[in-house]
Formats: sequence, C-alpha cells, structure tokens
Amino acid sequence: MRDRLVEHGLMGVWIPKEFGGGGGGVLDLCLVVEEISRACGGMGVMFAVNALGSFPIILGGTDAQKRKYLPEIASGRKLIAFGLSERGAGSDAGGLSTRAVVADGHVTIDGDKKWTTNGGAADIYSVFAVSDPESRSRRISGVIVEKGDPGFEIGRAEDKMGIRCVPVVELHFRGCRVPADRILGGERGLGFKHAMMTLDCARPGVAAQAVGLAQGALEYALVYAQGRQQFGAPISSFQMIQQMFADMATKVEAARQLVYAAARSIDAGASNTSKLAAQAKLFATDVAMEVTTNAVQILGGYGYMRDYPVEKYMRDAKITQIYEGTNQVQRLVVARALLKETLALDHLKAYMPLPDHPNTQRDRERAGK
Ligand SMILES: Cc1cc2nc3c(=O)[nH]c(=O)nc-3n(C[C@H](O)[C@H](O)[C@H](O)COP(=O)(O)OP(=O)(O)OC[C@H]3O[C@@H](n4cnc5c(N)ncnc54)[C@H](O)[C@@H]3O)c2cc1C
Repeated sequence: MRDRLVEHGLMGVWIPKEFGGGGGGVLDLCLVVEEISRACGGMGVMFAVNALGSFPIILGGTDAQKRKYLPEIASGRKLIAFGLSERGAGSDAGGLSTRAVVADGHVTIDGDKKWTTNGGAADIYSVFAVSDPESRSRRISGVIVEKGDPGFEIGRAEDKMGIRCVPVVELHFRGCRVPADRILGGERGLGFKHAMMTLDCARPGVAAQAVGLAQGALEYALVYAQGRQQFGAPISSFQMIQQMFADMATKVEAARQLVYAAARSIDAGASNTSKLAAQAKLFATDVAMEVTTNAVQILGGYGYMRDYPVEKYMRDAKITQIYEGTNQVQRLVVARALLKETLALDHLKAYMPLPDHPNTQRDRERAGK
C-alpha cells in the first residue's frame, strides 16, 4: 500500500513543495484519504496519520526541523505518528502528565502515551509533554522523537473494533534523552498551541475518511440491492429501500461539500478555521455512522456477517466519531465559536428584550407598570 502511494506521488501530497511534498494542502490530503477510505478505512487512517504527525513540524517546526524531517515523510521513506493522548488525558488534552525536562542541551522525556496510531510502523513521532508544570499558558512542549532513541519503547498493540489493519499502540519513555534542537519550533511552551493548530488542520482528514467510508458502504449496498431478490423483485425496487438510498446519498454529498469547504478555507489561510473543521468532522463522521449502519440494514442478515464488507465499514466508521476529538468535543468547539461570534452582534440586543427585563409593553403591563 505504502509503495503504491509512493509510486503515485501521493505520500506527501499535503507537504509544501520546497520540502519535497506535492504542495497540495489540506484539500488534496482529504481527496486522497477519501478515496483510500472508500475501499478501506484502516488504510485511510494509516495514510492520514502522516499528516497528523507532520502538521506540528509544518506549522510550528524550525526551518532545520522542516528540512530534516519533511522530505523523508514526503518521499514515503519514513512514516510519522502523533503522540498526544495519555491514559488520563484524552478529551482533556491539556491534562498531560508525561514530563519533558530540558537541561544541558537535551530533553529528557518520562511517561507513557496511549493510542498512538502507526506507532511501531512509524520512524518519527511528534510527542507532547509537560516542560513547565508551573506555567498556565506555556506548560507543554512538542518534541520530535525518533525510533531507536535511547529510553523510547513501543508498547502493547491494541485489539480494536475496527481499523484493524493499522497499529495503535502505547509509547513508553523512560529517561528518553534527545538533543534540545528536537523541541518543536526550537522554543519551550509552544506545544499546546501547535497541537491545537494541528488538530484544526487534520480534522478535515478524519472527516474525509468518514466520507470515503460512507461512500464505499453506499456503493456496496446499491449494487447488492439490485441483485438481491425478495417477493419476486429486486429489493432496490421497494420504495422504502429507495428512500434510504436517497437519504444516504444526500447526506454523504452534504458531508463531502462541508469537508471540502473546511479544507479550502484552511488552505486559503482563513484566520479562524476551528469551527468549520469541527463542523466538518462531527457532521461527516455522524453521517458515516448512520450511512454504514443503514448499509448493513439494506443487506439484512447478510450485512451482519463478516462475509460481506459492510459490517467492516460500520466498525471502521465508529472510530471517526471518537479520535482527534470526540464529537461531543467538536460540538463544544462549535458552540464556543458561535457564542464568541455573537459578541459582535451587539446591535441585536437593543431589539431583544430578555425575559428578566420587562422591556416590552406587554411585560410592563404584566408587571403592573
Ligand atoms: C483507535 C484509536 C486511535 C487513536 N489514535 C491517536 C493518535 O494517533 N494520537 C493521539 O494522540 N491520540 C489518539 N487516540 C486518542 C483519541 O484522540 C482519544 O481517544 C479521544 O480524544 C477521546 O479521549 P478518551 O478516549 O480519553 O475519552 P474521554 O476523554 O475519557 O471521553 C469519554 C466520553 O466523555 C465525553 N466527554 C469528555 N469530555 C467532555 C466534555 N467536556 N463535554 C462533554 N462530553 C465530554 C467524550 O465525548 C466521550 O464520550 C486514538 C484513539 C483510538 C481509540
């Protein structure tokens, strides 16, 4: 798979041209992830995680870090992974406990990372750890760790519901010592900012994985329904099945357009893309779960069996609602952005009597004034 991606020049399609990539940005990343995921969601994430791991370097790395690592990823010679989550820090990504102590020109990392996709297969790791525990705003630093660095070990591989072809592992750091020039951006305390910027850019990739999975399941169900006969007719001729197809296809297309809009907005350098990226992620992944479940329904009992791929699409779709921020967390991002944007709508308050304030004639009358 990796060889085929390299052969077609797709491996670093999101990496700027000056660092050996395709220079395509987030939209091109999404197009490739969508197409791969249409066939296999696990392969889709194996590819997409290279973007997740390399965005911290692209967005926040020093020039030397970009020149050292990005061409190797773009060429497909090396894979990269992203180590943020920990046993006790998932949605609350700021609550990390892995420590990075900077002294004598080195960083020493101690702690464990949970659920690192591509872990073990990857050669390079963007790892986030607490470098300044007393600081509120600059507590975390990003550090680039390489396979084979002393004190760095790949742990247990998870036994997952879906995306079973891609490794998801624990990472262990026991006095892992790397040169200080591996601190992302060459400066301590920028890690949380880099991680959040990365997630904003990478979330449309998960959304594209979801669109591909939904599209693949829809196509399989469409073909199956035209061949499967019940009551002397193909099940595709039943209007309740046709309604399901119409709704599934409409939702997949709506999700696709939202994902492309988010990706284009990031590529255009729009200032605040968090809301759109979160909307694309939550909408597309919820659609993928619904559409893949309906594909199983359309195949009936056969859909529930492993003999047919729709149950795999459904299992693969589930994780897209969880990783890179659960859909509850995406809704928090969207709601917070909406409430912030509303501050700019001050003029509306003049026309909007609030229940506690007897502003309208009727309220004043009710209050006996
Ligand atoms: C297969 C897989 C691959 C992964 N790959 C990576 C990877 O490569 N790199 C990486 O760093 N991480 C990775 N992760 C971790 C993933 O990002 C986290 O699992 C995810 O962010 C959720 O964290 P959690 O599992 O600890 O759930 P928790 O944070 O414990 O959440 C549990 C539930 O509570 C809800 N919840 C939490 N906080 C709130 C809130 N404030 N309001 C409302 N609801 C809330 C959640 O939505 C969820 O439903 C992966 C996880 C899996 C399962």
